[in-house]
Amino acid sequence: MKNNFKKIFKRDGISYAQRVKGEDGSVSFQNPVFIPGPTNIPENLRRACDMPTIDHRSPLFGSILAPARAGVARVLQGERAEVFLFPATGTGGWETALTNTLSPGDHVLAARNGMFSHRWIDMCVRHGLIVEQVDVPWGQGIPAERFGAILAADTDHRIKAVLATHNETATGVRSDIAAIRRAMDAAGHPAMLFVDGVSSIASMDFRFDDWGVDVAVTGSQKGFMLPAGLAILGFSPKAMRATQGAALPRSFFDVRDMEKSYATSAFPYTPPVGLMNGLNEACRMLLDEGLEAVFARHHRIAEGVRAAVSAWGLELCAASPDLYSDTVSAIRTPDGFDATDIVTHAAERYGVAFGVGLGEVAGKVFRIGHLGSLTDVLALSGIATAEMCMADLGLDITLGSGVAAAQEVYRTSRAGITQKDAA
Ligand SMILES: *Cc1c(COP(=O)(O)O)cnc(C)c1O
Repeated sequence: MKNNFKKIFKRDGISYAQRVKGEDGSVSFQNPVFIPGPTNIPENLRRACDMPTIDHRSPLFGSILAPARAGVARVLQGERAEVFLFPATGTGGWETALTNTLSPGDHVLAARNGMFSHRWIDMCVRHGLIVEQVDVPWGQGIPAERFGAILAADTDHRIKAVLATHNETATGVRSDIAAIRRAMDAAGHPAMLFVDGVSSIASMDFRFDDWGVDVAVTGSQKGFMLPAGLAILGFSPKAMRATQGAALPRSFFDVRDMEKSYATSAFPYTPPVGLMNGLNEACRMLLDEGLEAVFARHHRIAEGVRAAVSAWGLELCAASPDLYSDTVSAIRTPDGFDATDIVTHAAERYGVAFGVGLGEVAGKVFRIGHLGSLTDVLALSGIATAEMCMADLGLDITLGSGVAAAQEVYRTSRAGITQKDAA
């Protein structure tokens, strides 16, 4: 990268050594990022995280912890959810789910359909779990019917948990969690349902209660629009019961210690209070906007991005519309073209971040993240930048074609504005 990393900017007497100045003199931080996490942090959340030290053994801590946990439960649509907050990331959340509920040698059922499901499976193996792995082409969703058949055949109930990545961030594929729950119930199988909602929770409809989720996992830096640093989990009563007999080693991530501390508004070790204060504020923001409105906004923004992709004559990695993610689009580039060049070029030339392809789709796709603190107007700037990059790199893209397609979506599909009003 030719960016000038050395330049140190000062604001409010604080140096931002990481501020990156592009070739054209533009400062990257003035642009939103279009990666599927970490996401853009709204100013009010940055302020909420930036707080003076408080004594976490004082009652003030409880006044942050309790509403933050209650807010998360509402965002999960999970009245049954016991919410846990760990100083970690989504990956730590995966480990919390596994180690608190399972024992070495337990079987788990999981599909591998992208980099994130791949990594969660890898973590299971490293913990001595036996993974009944269903390989799915990248771009496809979790096959609920296959899961149902495998569970029905598991008459000894050796499978203790079904792992599902709700939104495969590597491919932009959303799987149908309700269908997986139905398949589990139809098979009469008692396994728990663990859902990775890291890139869906707080952005796309996620129903902890309705879907019978036993453990939901997310992190602070995606839909919650905060810096990385919190693993956020919901445990069902059934998952809480499983914590008693689970024999996998755990200490830092032991939810029993958390639960005990929470009972007195305390924490088993030093909590990241600022982040928790930010989480409290993030939940308030999301609930003020209204979950329905948050989901509708993400859907509308995603529809605009998809209209642009189609206007460019390109295709999504997601194989069919029922799989389209409303938080990230993985866009296939023509054969022989390295999609990573778009991401590198966008960073160097325009100071804009897109996501690279991961694992099996490295070089074949680039990703536009469209979750968190985004508006139609911000999305248009990302679409316009992607167009400039592709044109700069010699792809046959007409400048403005994707922008115009997205504009049409945004001016005609906003709440309260009918097709007729806009015409
Ligand atoms: C980002 C992401 C993760 C990993 O989370 P970290 O916070 O980076 O540990 C896991 N699963 C999915 C689906 C993700 O998008």
